[in-house]
Amino acid sequence: MPEGDTIFRAARTLHRALAGKPVRAFESVFPALNRINDDVPIAGRTIERIHSTGKHLLIRFSGDLVLRTHMRMNGSWHIYRSGEKWQRSRRDMRIVVATADFEAVGFNIPVAEFLSEREIARSPELRALGPDVLADDFDPQIVIANLRERAGSEIAEALLNQRVLAGLGNVYKSEILFMCRINPFRRVQELAEVDLSSIVEESRRVLKLNVSEGLELMTTYGGLRRTTGRTDPKDRLWVYGRARLPCRRCGTPVVVRKQGNDARLTYWCPHCQPSTA
Ligand SMILES: [Zn+2]
Repeated sequence: MPEGDTIFRAARTLHRALAGKPVRAFESVFPALNRINDDVPIAGRTIERIHSTGKHLLIRFSGDLVLRTHMRMNGSWHIYRSGEKWQRSRRDMRIVVATADFEAVGFNIPVAEFLSEREIARSPELRALGPDVLADDFDPQIVIANLRERAGSEIAEALLNQRVLAGLGNVYKSEILFMCRINPFRRVQELAEVDLSSIVEESRRVLKLNVSEGLELMTTYGGLRRTTGRTDPKDRLWVYGRARLPCRRCGTPVVVRKQGNDARLTYWCPHCQPSTA
């Protein structure tokens, strides 16, 4: 599942390639999008801005039209030069926005809709989002208050709730709790203010770091920082995907368990992250 930093990078790349350019062609497999494209064509409009909010990617066109997409588990946006061969099958294509020089192709995107600015402001999915972990005006106090409202929730579950904090996904959830030495199954009410604030600050720090230029893969573990070339993403993480392997701090085998209503995998070190304080 793409996390907030992946969507942020995708939006940034698309924005650099497409912003300010007129749309040459629009194509989609969504009937609802095509109906709007028939009524008020996308071609000829200028792409004004592409950005992310939490895990939503928004493409703003001139004439008060915004394309909202959500990647869920498998969706992704690619950018190609016109005529360049796609890295995915045409079968997986859901949306194409083409300018004179580039094609933005959305593959396997499950959620897409056109909205006006006014509808965006009212959109239940967007309105309900907690502070975007990558936003310039991010306020940790709001996130801490949102966590406190879910006093009975397990901390790992609460962190995945996009109404608490937008942009954090399942991989970073395990990583950040490890870095803060907090057991993922502890309830919010059991945690001290200093624990909550370190979780929130670390979330922002790590996601910010992962959208800095030149870093290609999700990284939380710095032990291989000097490694160059292609590296398994799991080699760059503290606990996620490392079940039964020794903890990078203490050597205790990392454990994994399904957690919460969605049975998302949670990884942790039972020694570094004890279940009681
Ligand atoms: Zn450990």
